[in-house]
Amino acid sequence: MSMDRRQFLKIAGISSILGFGASVVSTAQPSLLTGLDPAQVDKNKEALLAKRWAMVVDMSKFKTDDDYKKVIDACHLTHNVPDFRNADGSVDKKFEIKWIWTAAYERAFPGQDNKYMNEHLKEMPFLVACNHCDNPPCVRVCPTKATFKLPNGITMQDEHRCIGCRFCMAACPYGSRSFNWRDPRPAIKSENKEYPTRAKGVVEKCTFCTERLAVGKLPACVEAAPKGGLIFGDLEDPNSEVRKIVTNQYTIRRKSDLGTGPGIYYIVGGSDHA
Ligand code: SF4
Ligand code: SF4
Repeated sequence: MSMDRRQFLKIAGISSILGFGASVVSTAQPSLLTGLDPAQVDKNKEALLAKRWAMVVDMSKFKTDDDYKKVIDACHLTHNVPDFRNADGSVDKKFEIKWIWTAAYERAFPGQDNKYMNEHLKEMPFLVACNHCDNPPCVRVCPTKATFKLPNGITMQDEHRCIGCRFCMAACPYGSRSFNWRDPRPAIKSENKEYPTRAKGVVEKCTFCTERLAVGKLPACVEAAPKGGLIFGDLEDPNSEVRKIVTNQYTIRRKSDLGTGPGIYYIVGGSDHA
């Protein structure tokens, strides 16, 4: 089979997986499943075929609470993530949905702390999200294939195929998935009409902004972060910034001893990139 044909079949396979078959393509409407605009996707197929999308979080670039808030708001507003609050304004943890959030060092990197550690580092809020693992336990346990890997390393979630069994939530060692115990729609602050909303009874999580990559944009969190705070790119490309950082600087990953192969790398001890 020629390379072109193989590539075409790969794209076609991804297209059908993502729910933009021929009839949908002709409408040029964002897919109800993923928010992808098929007309734009056609021009940016490389985004779906890149070998390994990955992210570097450089903690030295995050200085204020606002730096984190901008990142989380950008993601959650873009993706219609509901914001469930108690009457006093605090987050209602029972119903909380989160795609990206912050966790203290000992929660983000359990077992990697020690009692002599710098207090500042211990208390820093680390940005955490789905790690788009190379070997994701969530995908293995899903009985309906509602969660699956793309060839570019992204772990996708198809809310229409999700039956709400929450096996994936139990399997994910990072708590990266949230379940809609309630109808999320009334709790959406300001609906982004370009992206689908979800229903009660399904699981959701970060998709590395697949819908934005498909139109040649960076993930929303990367754009909202302080300069150099979040770096995104193809790890398989030796000239990409993420690859250069991962190769040349000391980075850590969350619970990498589990063999999941997380795709988010953290620089915790200062950086030597701009
Ligand atoms: S972080 Fe969790 S949800 Fe994301 S790919 Fe890994 S196991 Fe799956
Ligand atoms: S990559 Fe996109 S979906 Fe994932 S945390 Fe960043 S903004 Fe949210």
